[in-house]
Amino acid sequence: MLRNFFKAVLNLFLKPNCPLCDRPTDTQLCPYCQKQILRCQFPRGKQCSGEVPLLVWGQYKGALKQAIVAMKYNNHPELAQPLGYWLAETWLNTSQFNSSNLNNKRLVVVPIPMFPEKQKKRGFNQAELLARSFCQVTGLPLKSQGLERIRDTEAQFSLSAQQRQENLKDAFRLGADFRQSKVNSVLIVDDIYTTGATVKTAIATFRRHQIRVVGILAIATTKS
Ligand SMILES: [Zn+2]
Repeated sequence: MLRNFFKAVLNLFLKPNCPLCDRPTDTQLCPYCQKQILRCQFPRGKQCSGEVPLLVWGQYKGALKQAIVAMKYNNHPELAQPLGYWLAETWLNTSQFNSSNLNNKRLVVVPIPMFPEKQKKRGFNQAELLARSFCQVTGLPLKSQGLERIRDTEAQFSLSAQQRQENLKDAFRLGADFRQSKVNSVLIVDDIYTTGATVKTAIATFRRHQIRVVGILAIATTKS
């Protein structure tokens, strides 16, 4: 307790530094880095209306990539807060995406889960933190236990597209949040959208339980 007290006193005098550029800042990111990240944003969010509409906030490059890497690998979970906020803002401004969804009283938000051991090592699931921030802005309920990852399938860069899909089969199962209460529509949140294989598997898992996925949201994509 004493240590926390001293820390609090110290924080009165010392501002924390921006995790990207090390400048002192009052917010999670300094204004300079915020500006740099906003430059990676797609004009109106990148939208693809495939079978399930997809909305991605920005391009995985430059300062946005730096922020995501810092969040995931350099232990800066607090960066999920502004990123989730921006994702929510874009979603709210994309009327064709949300007009029917905001009136849907049974719509919930589900983050793509990590394999439990992996999450234990990292200490958090960044998709869950992004979803939490997204829900704070939109007011939609968060179901972080909506899905469970039962196979560790994340390291699959060396596999072909078909091998990936095969490897991902049965990667998820319905989580504790949905085993009791019934929902009928879900918005999926992930951090980075690459091939879409992970999300496809998650959609298939929900479908087996008659749950409709009404949209996929990600903060960044490697596709231009
Ligand atoms: Zn900065």
